[in-house]
Amino acid sequence: MLQLGKAGRCAWRPVSLVRCKTTLIMGPPGGGKGTISKKLIKDFNFHHISTGDLLRTQVRLGTPQGLKAKSYMESGDLVPDELIIDMVLSKVEDISSSRVLLDGFPRTRVQAEALDKKKQVEIAINLAVPNEEIVRRTSSRWIHPGSGRTYAYDYNPPKEEGKDDETGESLIQRDDDKPAAVKARLQEYDNQTLPLLDYYKEKGCLRQFDGSDNPDLVAKDRRSDAIYASLKPFMQGSLG
Ligand code: AMP
Repeated sequence: MLQLGKAGRCAWRPVSLVRCKTTLIMGPPGGGKGTISKKLIKDFNFHHISTGDLLRTQVRLGTPQGLKAKSYMESGDLVPDELIIDMVLSKVEDISSSRVLLDGFPRTRVQAEALDKKKQVEIAINLAVPNEEIVRRTSSRWIHPGSGRTYAYDYNPPKEEGKDDETGESLIQRDDDKPAAVKARLQEYDNQTLPLLDYYKEKGCLRQFDGSDNPDLVAKDRRSDAIYASLKPFMQGSLG
């Protein structure tokens, strides 16, 4: 059961009574939103929208939106609100699924208010991961550009250093995983996105997960598994 919030606002009623359940997954960049989202999609059949993936696709396709977003993304800044709001809300309107998972949106107050006009947010999940861990994780993450296969040198290294296991091609670091960009992304997160936690807390929809219920897994550097061990039963209870 979720906490009671300000009357008439967000998820102050039991979520099982609500028809369309919009869930947000929030947290610092590189904090495991993608990993946790994959598990939620598998277990709860969510329609998933990741703004990072949407933007990367637009950049790859060279669309006007992608060209506009590219330099912001490479330097670790947030793209302008109007660009991302139009992109996400036009998708959200078309969804017929009763379970929607928004991953990486909203990231600013303006985005949150725009979303409120279209959808009622029932659950805002925050993955709380310390900044030092983010810096360590992102610096160890390398990808195979052709397939998107991701490796992490600390727990999922490629068989041969710097090479993709299947093709043998070179791995690269995402521009926004490079140290200067990570610093900028964390700063943007602290300034723009962290205040949204209070926004959703006041509405009574915020649930924070930091893995501390499962310290053994955290100690073994498996924070995402530790978080999911607590998150899954919460979602089962909330979504029914
Ligand atoms: P992500 O993969 O979610 O970390 O997103 C990668 C990058 O896309 C971010 O560093 C931002 O530049 C941009 N981005 C993703 N979602 C948003 C958003 N909601 N608002 C502004 N920029 C975003």
